[in-house]
Amino acid sequence: MSNLAKHFKCPCGSTKFEEVMENVTVLSEVDYVDSQGFVDYGEQSNENGDVSHFQCVTCGKPILCEDGSYAKDGDLADVLRGSRGSDNAVD
Ligand SMILES: [Zn+2]
Repeated sequence: MSNLAKHFKCPCGSTKFEEVMENVTVLSEVDYVDSQGFVDYGEQSNENGDVSHFQCVTCGKPILCEDGSYAKDGDLADVLRGSRGSDNAVD
């Protein structure tokens, strides 16, 4: 299978995009607490959460379907395959 992520090309020139999640619980292991209460963290992990959308790493422009909705799941693959994902994105 080909990597459809390589098809991404934002109008800003970036070829990298990222997943945006919401309703996520972030768990941070505490390594150190000083006398002032300053906390230093170790490993971090995430629990739960829903995929909100995908967007350009550089400018934040969302990847949209032709109808203007966020491209997710199968839609994301279709949009990337058509390489028209971000051409119709709204600012
Ligand atoms: Zn961009």
